[in-house]
Amino acid sequence: MHVFSTYNTQQRRKEVSRLISPAKSMHDWKKYLEQYVPSASFRDESAAVRVCQLATMAAELGTYAVGAVLLDDEGEILAEGHNEVFVDRFRSDLHAEMVALTQFETEYQGPQKPGALTLISSLEPCPMCMARLIYSGIGSIRYVCEDPHGGMVTRISSLPPTLRAISEGLSQVWGLAECSNELRGAARQIWEQHREEIDLRIVERGGGRQGY
Ligand SMILES: [Zn+2]
Repeated sequence: MHVFSTYNTQQRRKEVSRLISPAKSMHDWKKYLEQYVPSASFRDESAAVRVCQLATMAAELGTYAVGAVLLDDEGEILAEGHNEVFVDRFRSDLHAEMVALTQFETEYQGPQKPGALTLISSLEPCPMCMARLIYSGIGSIRYVCEDPHGGMVTRISSLPPTLRAISEGLSQVWGLAECSNELRGAARQIWEQHREEIDLRIVERGGGRQGY
């Protein structure tokens, strides 16, 4: 009779996947991105490299590995940022998209119409960022990899009617960035490396409900 232990099966799977593709350290990912030659056949390729680089910087600072850039209508970077939730002091609002949007709204009010801009993020925006991207009026929002755990764009039909109406009124365009699958894989792996650990820090920091 065979008795399969879940633990052993999981361990074995981990060992096998390690043999197939050994996990890269953040240092390795940085080197990989420095040497990566962007393909000219994808319009978001260079921006995708940049957001992945920003994501590695965030990871090295011990926070969520996500980066974002805001591009003008010629594809030039106007603002950029990475997640800063656990950088220096705790700031629940400082997701990568928020950092880039705040930079833009602080420095470029007036001359630039947000509808002409594109935000590229390494990861599908969460509900908080998606709501702000709608209120900020950014024209196009594209992300390098989907977030099956917490992404809101793929769940757009679940947004409150007001948000959906504003987004439709703005003719916002949401979707995957146009980049190589290789970069998509890189963005996902860079982000996944510490995601669960940092989610846990969020829960531990909250301390659980004590009543009132
Ligand atoms: Zn977010």
